Amino acid sequence: MTELDNYSLKGEISLITGASRGIGASIADLFGQSNSLVIGTATTPEGAQSISDRFKKLQIRGRGIVLDVSKSEQVNQIVKDLKANNELPSILVNNAGISMESLMMRIKEEDWNKVINTNLSSVFFMTKAVIGGMMKKRHGRIINIGSVVGSIGAVGNAHYSATKSALEGFTKSIALEVGSRGITANTISPGYITTDMTKGINEELNQAMMKKIPLDRFGDPQDIAKAAVFLASNAGSYITGQTIHVNGGMYME
Ligand code: NDP
Repeated sequence: MTELDNYSLKGEISLITGASRGIGASIADLFGQSNSLVIGTATTPEGAQSISDRFKKLQIRGRGIVLDVSKSEQVNQIVKDLKANNELPSILVNNAGISMESLMMRIKEEDWNKVINTNLSSVFFMTKAVIGGMMKKRHGRIINIGSVVGSIGAVGNAHYSATKSALEGFTKSIALEVGSRGITANTISPGYITTDMTKGINEELNQAMMKKIPLDRFGDPQDIAKAAVFLASNAGSYITGQTIHVNGGMYME
């Protein structure tokens, strides 16, 4: 074994939500290229197929599956199917998320509920469904994708920011509960990353945002994927209950 093997995910089974696009796709691909078997989720059959096609092209072991993370019965069924296939995940990346920008006064109750269910309740459903298997194996990694706005807030995103702050408390509690079973739980908090989620932001706001980033560039999904591989691998085995900020310096804890 060489020092570099500490960064390998050989022998791991990774379940990554929202692997069809953006940050989740990048994490899924890098995990696969680091030798993990990867199950990536999308909300549609076309999205799931596109994940499978991408994996095939990159010679990654794994496939895409359809899952709406906000529906606990779907989550439980997926994990049941994985168990039947001897594919219970040793790594869970809760990445799927939505943002529905709106000023506080205008947030509709149904939008509040949608954001809470997709970004937060989903993490409870997913974690609850897989943690028993990890405890039995006495090995596991849970990585939740938060956001810098969970720490600093954001105009027009009170519901989204609330879910991302809540993830940090959830993650720390899990870390306390299951640390003795060889399971780590951490949050990665991205800053401003170029994906579909941020492409609608207007130029004026983009420029104002850029001024706050000491490294003078927006993040790339790969920046998040590299941090995730580190936490998931043996190299990150003594890190738990932490929030790792990957944001070019726009916020320093
Ligand atoms: P994208 O909008 O590019 O992709 C979102 C992903 O989540 C897609 O794969 C989408 O699947 C999936 N998804 C959405 N709703 C559901 C659902 N109900 N069930 C299952 N999957 C769902 O987002 P990003 O890649 O930008 O964001 C990924 C994560 O990173 C999110 O949690 C986001 O909050 C966080 N983040 C992003 C930042 C950024 O600047 N981009 C900054 C900070 C945090 P489908 O393709 O099927 O719709």
